[in-house]
Amino acid sequence: MKQLSQLKQMFDHFHEAIYIVDKNRQILYFNQVASQISGFSSGETEGFFCYDNILNHIDDHGTNLCINGCPLVHTIETNTISDHYVFLHHKLGHRLRVHVRAIPVMEDGDVIGAIEVFTDETQKNLLQQQLDIQQKLLMIDPLTGLFNRRFMDEKLEVIIKERPEDQPFGFLFIDIDNFKDINDIYGHSYGDEVLKSISNTIQSNVKATDYVLRYGGEEIVVIIPMADQQLTQEIAELIRILVRRTKPRDPKHDFDLTVSIGATVMSKHDTIESVIDRADSAMYQAKKSGKNKVVFLHPKH
Ligand code: GH3
Ligand code: MG
Ligand code: MG
Repeated sequence: MKQLSQLKQMFDHFHEAIYIVDKNRQILYFNQVASQISGFSSGETEGFFCYDNILNHIDDHGTNLCINGCPLVHTIETNTISDHYVFLHHKLGHRLRVHVRAIPVMEDGDVIGAIEVFTDETQKNLLQQQLDIQQKLLMIDPLTGLFNRRFMDEKLEVIIKERPEDQPFGFLFIDIDNFKDINDIYGHSYGDEVLKSISNTIQSNVKATDYVLRYGGEEIVVIIPMADQQLTQEIAELIRILVRRTKPRDPKHDFDLTVSIGATVMSKHDTIESVIDRADSAMYQAKKSGKNKVVFLHPKH
């Protein structure tokens, strides 16, 4: 499953119990919340088949769904999202009523597995949980695992509007250098791998409170709460250096990846658009002055 590492990265942060199976129902991933609800650790589930007497879902007639009527099988065979109420077998022995949503995973036009999201009925309002997970899926870019533009429009505006007036915010606008050449020479899917690697490098080296979003095709915006000019420039410089040391593990890859970075900080007169425009202009200057550079632009006011 090509997207597996992206999906894992994303689901590690979810508050819902999630596991992923391949077409044969072998469990490829079992998140922390799934462990909390079921009592089984990822080590006791990953690599096993879901009919290996682990969760052992039954319905309200006591029918063993693993043998007959598995929600995941239904979803994989019909390529549909399906919802079920089942009773899961907790590791300690008791049965737990859970709501299960099974979602097909597609790759190159074929269903190659499924995601099961399950929620302990006793925990939280069900509708609320479904909205939460759907909203998150809508706000994350599937290729890179980064937030998408929708996140910026719907959530970030609010986060920024609600900040204390004197709280500084650093902004970086990052554009990959000569990316067209990478696509032309090595192919578009290799370009995708490069984009993922660079996104992972950036995401892995900022703080959990920072926001990394895929702004456009190969343009990434980083938003750093509580960062003044100096810190913003330091982080930009670190990203520039780390990207240069990012290399997809492919023997035919024999060049340095670089990015041009425009950096700025938000003033109290800025909107999210004006600050990103300024970071974009700074990035453009970095391109004009030879690429693989960081350029910082001060707010006008
Ligand atoms: P520059 O150094 O001036 O930025 O040159 P560049 O070649 O990177 O030029 P530009 O930023 O204008 O072009 C971006 C290219 O990125 C064009 C587009 O084909 C490619 N691209 C955009 N999104 C994706 C994607 O998701 N995957 C791949 N493989 N390529 C993409
Ligand atoms: Mg570009
Ligand atoms: Mg570019």
